[in-house]
Amino acid sequence: MSLSLAAALNQAKTAGVDRLDAQLMLAHLLEKNRSWVIAHADDEVPAQLTAPWAVLLTRRAAGEPLAYLVGEKEFHGLSLQVTQDVLVPRPDTETLVDWALERLAPLAPDARVLDLGTGSGAIALAVKHAIPQSEVWAVDASAAALAVAQANAVRLGLPIQFRQGHWWQAVETQAFDLAVSNPPYIAEGDPHLNALIHEPLQALSSGPEGMDDLRDIIQHAPHHLTPGAWLLLEHGYNQAEQVQNCLTARGFTEVQTRTDAAGVPRCTAGRWPKRDIFDNSD
Ligand code: GLN
Repeated sequence: MSLSLAAALNQAKTAGVDRLDAQLMLAHLLEKNRSWVIAHADDEVPAQLTAPWAVLLTRRAAGEPLAYLVGEKEFHGLSLQVTQDVLVPRPDTETLVDWALERLAPLAPDARVLDLGTGSGAIALAVKHAIPQSEVWAVDASAAALAVAQANAVRLGLPIQFRQGHWWQAVETQAFDLAVSNPPYIAEGDPHLNALIHEPLQALSSGPEGMDDLRDIIQHAPHHLTPGAWLLLEHGYNQAEQVQNCLTARGFTEVQTRTDAAGVPRCTAGRWPKRDIFDNSD
């Protein structure tokens, strides 16, 4: 039975799938762009693609992120390939990138930057793209995630130093002028996780309060930061105060929080102090 693009979009509506998502899935399937889909509403979906279309609709209707179904997601102006091995990059995290770029602006262009828990490579690649001379490193515990990030780096022509391992351990004794992380921060058992079952749990959840990895990263940061370096962290909507307290307790200065595009306190940063020349207490 033949199926026009308009009829396919009607099927999506009946299935409760957003029209924009449906257009993007059709475009992906037909290897066209969305405006082509809009302009060709009366064209037929080729017979061999009607079954794959039905599968995409079912998966999207079941809540699978669009990014996994079409294999890519736009982040900070870059098109990133994503698989189920990585968290889908969120617009919230662009706040963190913008802040990192602001803090890097006054530094030497070849500053050393580290992205902890890089996933698809989103943060590391956005920084490298904006400041091509910077020396960007990226770490992930998951080999599968690193493979996705590495493929993105190659495809975008953005060289990054990738390391596999647990947070700072992966970079051994290296020190950085700025470190940035969007670690897992949702509390175990938080009902919010029910809506995120398609994404890797190890990238989302961290201990009973969601604070375990944030605490771990802050605790070990000073050994890997140059004097005056910034540590910028994304966190949950209700964790700003705890993250501020952890940073202050660890000896960070200029601790401050920023809100994301939705107005939620989303990122907190601190500065590792420049060594006081009168302080010999080390
Ligand atoms: N911001 C994501 C969400 O709440 C979580 C990302 C993370 O845990 N780092 O959907």
